[in-house]
Amino acid sequence: MSKNKSSESVKVVVRCRPLNRKEESNGPAGCIVQMDLRLGQVILRNPRAPASEPQKTFTFDAVYDANSKQGDLYDESVRPLIDSVLAGFNGTIFAYGQTGTGKTYTMQGAWMDPEKRGVIPNAFDHIFTHISRSQSDKQYLVRASYLEIYLEEVLDLLDPNHGNARALELRESPESGVYVRDLTSCVCKSIKEIEEVMNVGNQARAVAATDMNEHSSRSHALFLITVECSQPGPDGRKHIRVGRLNLVDLAGSERQAKTGVQGERLKEAAKINLSLSALGNVISALADGRSGHVPYRDSKLTRLLQDSLGGNAKTVMVATLGPAPQHYDETLTTLRYANRAKNIQNQPRVNEDPKDALLREFQMEIARLRAQLNHRKWRTKQKKEQVDGEGWERDGDEETEGEEDEEEGVEKDAEEYVKLEEQRLEREKQDIREDQFMLAEEKQRLLGEKEKMMGVLRKEQEATEQLTAKYKAMESKLLVGGKNIIDHTNEQQKMLEGKRHEIAEQTRSEREIQQQMLVRDDETVELRETFTSLQQEVEAKTKKLKKLYAKLQCIKAEIQDVNDEHVRSRQELEQTQNELTRELKFKYLIIENFIPPEEKNKIMNRLTFDPEEDQWKFQPLVPAESKSSSQMKKRPASAVGYKRPISQYARVAIAMGAHSRYRAENIMFLELDMTPPNSASLDRSAESEPNQSHSLDNSPTKDRGVRKSRSWCQTPKSITSSSSNVSLAACHTATPMTAQ
Ligand code: ADP
Ligand code: MG
Repeated sequence: MSKNKSSESVKVVVRCRPLNRKEESNGPAGCIVQMDLRLGQVILRNPRAPASEPQKTFTFDAVYDANSKQGDLYDESVRPLIDSVLAGFNGTIFAYGQTGTGKTYTMQGAWMDPEKRGVIPNAFDHIFTHISRSQSDKQYLVRASYLEIYLEEVLDLLDPNHGNARALELRESPESGVYVRDLTSCVCKSIKEIEEVMNVGNQARAVAATDMNEHSSRSHALFLITVECSQPGPDGRKHIRVGRLNLVDLAGSERQAKTGVQGERLKEAAKINLSLSALGNVISALADGRSGHVPYRDSKLTRLLQDSLGGNAKTVMVATLGPAPQHYDETLTTLRYANRAKNIQNQPRVNEDPKDALLREFQMEIARLRAQLNHRKWRTKQKKEQVDGEGWERDGDEETEGEEDEEEGVEKDAEEYVKLEEQRLEREKQDIREDQFMLAEEKQRLLGEKEKMMGVLRKEQEATEQLTAKYKAMESKLLVGGKNIIDHTNEQQKMLEGKRHEIAEQTRSEREIQQQMLVRDDETVELRETFTSLQQEVEAKTKKLKKLYAKLQCIKAEIQDVNDEHVRSRQELEQTQNELTRELKFKYLIIENFIPPEEKNKIMNRLTFDPEEDQWKFQPLVPAESKSSSQMKKRPASAVGYKRPISQYARVAIAMGAHSRYRAENIMFLELDMTPPNSASLDRSAESEPNQSHSLDNSPTKDRGVRKSRSWCQTPKSITSSSSNVSLAACHTATPMTAQ
């Protein structure tokens, strides 16, 4: 399977966008980023530092300044990667940087303007042009998927009901690494089709966000292209190579302000940080090379990019910068991040004959359909021979003709045969009608038979047509090399493109040599110097000392910066932790005070953690294997042996053989009220003695109007509530408890 065991590092290029109108009007502070295109260096000036402070310099595989063209970046840094994908490697391009620095511009750009088309549309052109120019013995299948990761959920952007679509799960297989289960994948036959797929996804993304900028700076978008290519190998068998290309537009890398956020927003902030900081941790762990554990599983993004970072893919990272002084800190962080990523080593290898290649399935299905069609053709041929009784003008050797001729032949044969058959049946029907000696009944029967035969014939023809259509649709999905998908065969244009590649290649190698020379210069300066006098030697060494001192200062400043950065991110993490702890305490309080302990235990015993989905889940109440059997749940301990939970008091009462009432406990004991209704008339004359008539206090006559109710569990006690005072007191005297 592996073709190329040698490792190669992640290519890191940096691009700086021009100042925008608002920044230009902000004043003369100007641009803080300078670029040396020849050396591939970025020089960053700290706008807050004194002029004497040395500027920070970073070296990358390539740098693109504000005047750079989309085409330059593509030809120099992306084209070789896409070529590798077409050769069967996995490839990834991801844009990283603060919001508004040109990630989307670099990845997508302005589609309508050929000058401003970004990496993705240029890659579409590249892939389909390559296919159209390749040899005719190659077959290709191109598929595209589009997804986004928002709040740690993977969402399918090509799902027709994206709005209420479920989050997708990540799965891992030894064959194709980490993949997204049930992700829509569209077979694309042309640039137009794949652009359509991209548009559909972009629209879904726009709909999902009320505020596009807000949403896009918080979600990661991944466009995935799979190119499968089959080509006959030296062994005569068809071999399939599968190249997977991930085009990633990451969320804005700026720190999300977390102060004062709560609930959903807090969760969101924590999760955005999670994905990007997990990416940072993965890059650090890989660049460091010493730590054995790489925390890929910490976030969805890092799991999906597992192959691209330290895996078997070729990777290009485009770090985007803004030139404005107010974003100095973010720019510096981006450059550090990018600088670290340079050290990641990948082991790219060609995916040859993977088991899950869709192209193989397509080829098999096409072969099956072709066999069916051939069988039909053979049957038609036989029937035709029977019909006209003479030799078939297209005989056996036509099998060796081209496949297309064969297909056309099948259709023609079928049509011809049907026509002939129809004519024959029509003729026979005519004969029957004209036959003077035949009975009318007999005529009718024979005509019916002929009709039936014609029906069968037509059905057969329809089936053949359907089969042919299916076969053609299936076959059209496979792109054959050498066929013109787009007219790119213009030799001059080809040559022009070739020259452009050469120039790009040359620029790249020149830059590499320059960079190497710079490193060597420092090392060899001492060797080259010969001193004629002591004075000269002192001067030279002083110069060198100064240079080294400046370097030392730079490194010290760098260490200080890194420490500051570390402290800052630590503080932020602590703050997030405090906020999350506070929320946890709040939830605990509710659980401890409002959920009965036994219920809580029951729930906790049922919970299990699913690391695949990073979620707590409820175990089913009845184990899956015993679902079919009629196994009952265990009765609660309080109800063992009884119909329902029963109190201790009632159990004792039953044991003592007391009133049968206690076999069904917890029921109010109500005695039938046999007293006549209380109809005392209001005595006006009693107004003079209000205390007597209105007071209910301890008046024995008033007892009769009160319902005597008792619960078996109530012990006699006086209740001091003013309204129920009399009634209950009366009740105690009237009905002594039966149990006592
Ligand atoms: P991001 O995706 O990083 O948030 P965008 O790609 O949306 O940023 O870019 C923000 C703005 O800057 C857009 O209006 C875009 O046209 C402009 N822009 C970015 N990079 C460049 C560039 N290299 N040249 C010209 N305009 C650019
Ligand atoms: Mg963007």
